[in-house]
Amino acid sequence: MSSAAPSNANDGCVGPTSQEAGKAAACAGCPNQGACSTGSFSSPAAVAAKEKEKANLHNALSEVSHVVLVLSGKGGVGKSTVSTQVAQSLSSRGYSVGLLDVTFVDRVSQEWQGARREVHQSQSGWTPVYANPNLAVMSISFLLEEGDAAVVWRGPRKNGLIKQFLTETDWGVGGLDYLIIDTPPGTSDEHISIVQYLNDARSSGQGASGAIVVTTPEEVSLADVRKELNFCKKTSVPVLGVIENMSGLQTRVSDMRFMNDESNDCTSDVLSLLKEKCPEVLNMMAITDVFPSAGTGPEGMANKFGVPYLGKLPLDPNLLKSCEDGVSFVDQYPSSPGTAPLNNIVDKLILALPVEDDEEDAMQT
Ligand code: ADP
Repeated sequence: MSSAAPSNANDGCVGPTSQEAGKAAACAGCPNQGACSTGSFSSPAAVAAKEKEKANLHNALSEVSHVVLVLSGKGGVGKSTVSTQVAQSLSSRGYSVGLLDVTFVDRVSQEWQGARREVHQSQSGWTPVYANPNLAVMSISFLLEEGDAAVVWRGPRKNGLIKQFLTETDWGVGGLDYLIIDTPPGTSDEHISIVQYLNDARSSGQGASGAIVVTTPEEVSLADVRKELNFCKKTSVPVLGVIENMSGLQTRVSDMRFMNDESNDCTSDVLSLLKEKCPEVLNMMAITDVFPSAGTGPEGMANKFGVPYLGKLPLDPNLLKSCEDGVSFVDQYPSSPGTAPLNNIVDKLILALPVEDDEEDAMQT
């Protein structure tokens, strides 16, 4: 009999938090079977455990001004890229920023090389890695052995680790202006868990300030994002806005490569011809839609859901490179095609979630 068994439970009770709760042989005929099978059973011990979790999260986030969840309907649309570069950009502007990656994708370690060796646990919790003095980074992948098949971990273990990361990361003295959380894509188990967990904490004044939803322009991605927006609505997570990523490819004509009818590279011939006949073209930007937008696209979708549209971010090789090098894209490449759009997005985010000093400055002016 589990030690968490309610007093009126059958002999052999596996406990209301067991994966077998409501389904085990001993559950047959138990008065709690219905509640246990739907996960809605609340014994005094379970209620106390939940309250403790809430208090832990409250403590952990008490010095974080804004928690921003970055969501996407499906993988590969640039959610981690946006999370990383929004965090980098906020930190460059002088804000104190935390970036928490709970995606279970062994990728961030490439961006924050050496992080695995640096991250450690002390009495005050997990100490994040500092990408710069204003940017603390914590990622589940820092703790995994190289090549760890984390994807095969089962939901409860993942959920437990996510909760642990949320409550036990020590973001340092002075707290954070923004905590950006890169979440698993779609409405997966872990995803629901993190949103619910933060939502529960909201009733005690903490929790997520809002969510940024990242999508690419085509219908396949939009279909998944609609589910995500409905999920936010249902769980009352405020949507700060939709970002349309990989919206067209922009490149300077002089950086393009050209092929002739026989698929042979004729770049140098074309560039020489342009230089001779119309050199001004070499400096122009060539733009093409890689993922053609369906219908009114992400902007129309955002309007339909009544949530802000934060803008388009083009495909920009420098954005990819900045993530790989672990540097701030807007600082490193001030005139790259994606720089102004990303700065605009960050401006809108700060406007939606001002930190106290900003609010005071605004009142003084
Ligand atoms: P997700 O987190 O949604 O799975 P990623 O952020 O890992 O997606 O992006 C997938 C790939 O696309 C990565 O290699 C990333 O560097 C690249 N990428 C994402 N957005 C852009 C962009 N706007 N321009 C260029 N490359 C991008």
